[in-house]
Amino acid sequence: MMNCIEAQKLIQEFLDDDLDNRELSDFLGHIDSCPDCKEELTIQFLVKVGMQRLEDGNTFNLSRELDNLLADSKKKLSARRTLVFVSYGLEIAVAAMFAICILLLIAL
Ligand SMILES: [Zn+2]
Repeated sequence: MMNCIEAQKLIQEFLDDDLDNRELSDFLGHIDSCPDCKEELTIQFLVKVGMQRLEDGNTFNLSRELDNLLADSKKKLSARRTLVFVSYGLEIAVAAMFAICILLLIAL
């Protein structure tokens, strides 16, 4: 389980979408269960995105955007997990077919 110091170090990387699956999973888990880090994330998000929006002249609904970002990250994470699971299954299938071919060759 990730602690607050680790989670807060990852906030910038999270906002830049630079976390790998494992980090993202631990990070989102921590943010869900830790109001302090959620608040820190909210502040850093507002600073980062708020600056961009100020330049665009479009500052409304920022807190809604953070919720969307968190929801999207969770969806992305489960999609990536499915992908890892599928590719793992394929590897096993290929290995099994390979083994069967070898057995057939030996048998012949
Ligand atoms: Zn925390």
